[in-house]
Amino acid sequence: MSDAQHHKRKKLLGMNPGTAAHRLRKMILWKFVVQTGVNICYRCGKEITSIDELSIDHKRSWLLSETPLETFFDLDNIAFSHLSCNCSVGEHDPTERINKRIHSDGMVLCHECGEYLSPDKFSLRPEGDMAGRHVPYRPHCKKCRVIRKTRGDSY
Ligand SMILES: [Zn+2]
Ligand SMILES: [Zn+2]
Repeated sequence: MSDAQHHKRKKLLGMNPGTAAHRLRKMILWKFVVQTGVNICYRCGKEITSIDELSIDHKRSWLLSETPLETFFDLDNIAFSHLSCNCSVGEHDPTERINKRIHSDGMVLCHECGEYLSPDKFSLRPEGDMAGRHVPYRPHCKKCRVIRKTRGDSY
């Protein structure tokens, strides 16, 4: 897509076309999830009642798997959960989160490419963005940040 096309679409949609496409895919998913009655949270067992609460969850963590790629795309390993239930996993013990993110050898995990890279491959979070956070690095490596930007991911 050319830059002009991209800007036209962005203007018409009032948002990044990448963000819009992501939202549309999620809406389609939500429709079928409700239709087939699988909108039950894998973690707390309660019903998921709104699309904003829906998250795609991995039953076994792919980050800790010896075969992360296979585990990530293993459909039998996929469940649905409340976003809040999914995100609160491991939060009781911040060291667990930190250990997941920063390996004992000092390498830092990029949440986009899933690789452990040396810390200089990451930029630091801006000051004031550290509230409740334990790791000073941005979630994605510099290389992935560029890719995500061109793809239109807003975060
Ligand atoms: Zn739940
Ligand atoms: Zn990366």
